[in-house]
Amino acid sequence: MVLQTILTTLLAAAVASAAPLQSARRDLSTVVSQCHHSFAYTWDDGPYIYHGEVSTQFNNVGGHTTFFLNGDNWSCIYDEANVQAIRATYEAGHQLASHTWSHADLTTLSHAQIDVEIQRLDEAFIKILGVRPRFIRPPYGSINDATATYIQQTHGKTIVLWSDDSGDSVGGSVQDSYNFYQAFANAGPSSQPRLTLSHETEPSGIGALRMGTVPLLANAGITLTTVAQCLDSDAYDYFGGYGTRDSSWYCGGSWTPSPTPTQTSSVSQTSSTSSTSSTPAPSCVTTYYSVSGDTCQSIGSKYGLTETALWNANTFITCNDIWAGTPVCIPPPGTACAQSYTTPSGTTCAAVASQFGVTAAQIALWNYWVNCDDIWSGTGLCVRH
Ligand SMILES: [Zn+2]
Repeated sequence: MVLQTILTTLLAAAVASAAPLQSARRDLSTVVSQCHHSFAYTWDDGPYIYHGEVSTQFNNVGGHTTFFLNGDNWSCIYDEANVQAIRATYEAGHQLASHTWSHADLTTLSHAQIDVEIQRLDEAFIKILGVRPRFIRPPYGSINDATATYIQQTHGKTIVLWSDDSGDSVGGSVQDSYNFYQAFANAGPSSQPRLTLSHETEPSGIGALRMGTVPLLANAGITLTTVAQCLDSDAYDYFGGYGTRDSSWYCGGSWTPSPTPTQTSSVSQTSSTSSTSSTPAPSCVTTYYSVSGDTCQSIGSKYGLTETALWNANTFITCNDIWAGTPVCIPPPGTACAQSYTTPSGTTCAAVASQFGVTAAQIALWNYWVNCDDIWSGTGLCVRH
């Protein structure tokens, strides 16, 4: 509440001076591989059967950890056991972050495919936890400048790699993993900061955990924190509470995005809570970070929105003079979809439009997240409103 008051006050000041919110600017094309302080012991590729056991080890020493989760890799994130385990982890104060829906190598994908990998998992987070993760670790650590820039600008996520790899996913033994963490314990607090990689799906990583790596580090005076904590950053955008299971909680098959619920709090969302307007705050389907030369019209056209629709969701900006790096709320395109369609391979917005008797511009508007010239096979599109 106090934070909200402060943000509202800051926002009022920003609106009054017609200046964008510089506090929320991101350093584009930056990939994080080290903490600012403390020790982030992180776990990839879950959720899996050992998830709760990992959390418990950290709970027992008053430490925190971070899980980079997949939607459908070693198990389906919507399995009831996973839902319960993830919620317990979240409630214990550990961080849950994105590792993509299917553990895909993002550098090999089109923008539309990257969107699905990120948004399908984001949707699962919102349904299960009521939050959207701000951090993502690219599978295999595979990232390049173009892909990083796209993910940061389109999805507003911070990309995290690691400073030290325990080697548990590349054939290391239980003893190797244990020795890896023991070396940091031996060095004590001076081994910080550190951002280490283990896997909650690997017997060697779990075996080392069972040998006592977590109490070993804690007893050595090392401060075990989440990645967000070690970077002094926020882990999530908030969308209300836990969701209730329905037919949309599934893995496999084709995916049709569910409507995104209204975001309830976020630094980058404060624009729409502004002050004097009595218009209901629109929800943002994503946050776009402006680049030099952007206008409301140019940003709107990227997402099939009018200049007015874009400005209504971002009343703090000056449409023809937007500072680079400004977080811009992209509002939803409009009413609910009346008919959806699963794409075959090699189709375009124009081809789909002619099949359903609408215009290519309408298909682009209703499905702002696809690349119209390169729509992935099996993508769920809205074709009628
Ligand atoms: Zn992985």
